[in-house]
Amino acid sequence: MAVLGLLAGAVLVTAGLVRSNPVEARRVAIPIEIEILNQPGPSPAAMMAAPAAGTYHGLESSKRVVVTVNRGDNMSLVFDRAGLSGAELQSLLDSDKGAAALRNIFPGQTLTFNVDEKHQLTELRFAKSALETTVFTKEGSSFRMLSEMKEPELRHTFRHAVVQSSLFNAGVQAGVSNQMILELANVFGGVMDFALDPRKGDTFSVLYEERFVDGEKIGEGAVIAAEYTNEGRRYSAYRFVDESGRSGYFSTDGVSMRKAFLRSPLDFTRVTSNFNMRRMHPIARIIRPHRGVDYGAPTGTPVYSSGDGRVLESGYGRGNGNYVYVQHDGQITTRYLHLHKRLVKKGQRVEQGQTIGTVGATGLATGPHLHYEFLVSGVQKNPRSVLDNLPRARSLSGKELARFRSGIAGFDAQLTTYTKAWELAVASNDG
Ligand SMILES: [Zn+2]
Repeated sequence: MAVLGLLAGAVLVTAGLVRSNPVEARRVAIPIEIEILNQPGPSPAAMMAAPAAGTYHGLESSKRVVVTVNRGDNMSLVFDRAGLSGAELQSLLDSDKGAAALRNIFPGQTLTFNVDEKHQLTELRFAKSALETTVFTKEGSSFRMLSEMKEPELRHTFRHAVVQSSLFNAGVQAGVSNQMILELANVFGGVMDFALDPRKGDTFSVLYEERFVDGEKIGEGAVIAAEYTNEGRRYSAYRFVDESGRSGYFSTDGVSMRKAFLRSPLDFTRVTSNFNMRRMHPIARIIRPHRGVDYGAPTGTPVYSSGDGRVLESGYGRGNGNYVYVQHDGQITTRYLHLHKRLVKKGQRVEQGQTIGTVGATGLATGPHLHYEFLVSGVQKNPRSVLDNLPRARSLSGKELARFRSGIAGFDAQLTTYTKAWELAVASNDG
């Protein structure tokens, strides 16, 4: 096996596929990447990375065949390329119910076949993902199946960004993925409207996990701590896992970031007239005659119920077009007008964030947009000012609060230290 290992290693290096798959986040202007957690990785032998290049590596003498799944492949084709018969595949599929997983293969996955001198299959290793490998081992006339899971190594990464033209552009410049921007919007979705609020000069910092397997970044993990300063107003959020294992984000004083209402009742990334995408100034604003907020967005953009509640009305009117009204606790009603499609019925329960319709231009609307109203006791209010005064969703107290406080102390200090280091770096670059 040692020789095999070397061989496979050589293929890896020559192919260069894995190596050239870069950790994108490294290519940033001012990266301050600090490794805090460094859990011991899995043993290299636990799952040897299979050669990523090519589709067939017949190593006849070594009795090991690695096949990479191509577009349009099925297991019969893969077995055929490995020089194995359909009967052998059938015997494997019959051996364990879990073997049916072999029917769902995707391009890029690898299968490693070990065969004996008569080219009979003795072991099949199916790398479903970077973390999970299913292994079939011949036992008598059948196969035994087991799954090998790898624990990714978690590293902490810090990024800081200044918003100049858009949130996503700021992310790109700071090496923050779009996915992470969406995570941030999710974390702060109860306190900020990411469609309307961001402004030039806003800053954000985020401390998050990156997941590595065998030194390769395989993805991003959770946000650990984040800060967003919007027009001078600073919001901080820290991840906290309670004793039942549920995680959530809380402000410094232990108040949940998840509020009874979302600030943005639609997929903010698709709001055309907003700051985030291209423009500096949102056209959406409170417009007196109809006392709502207008979000310009393409027809079909998902519209979310901003809070838990029950559908009060779902109908059509000449002025409102397709509309949905949702009744919430505390005599609060939210209204969503000019919808292209309504996806809920009167009387139906809806949850915060549930898609209740799509943006359209039905009724008296000059173009596709969502007209959103927030009513308290039947009177339209500006959601941006009302929501600050609504009761908070959940606060930590007692032992949990104590545990939260001691947990975030370090992260808070880190955010501050990193941000200062970043600002110093910028200052010295400018000088
Ligand atoms: Zn309107």
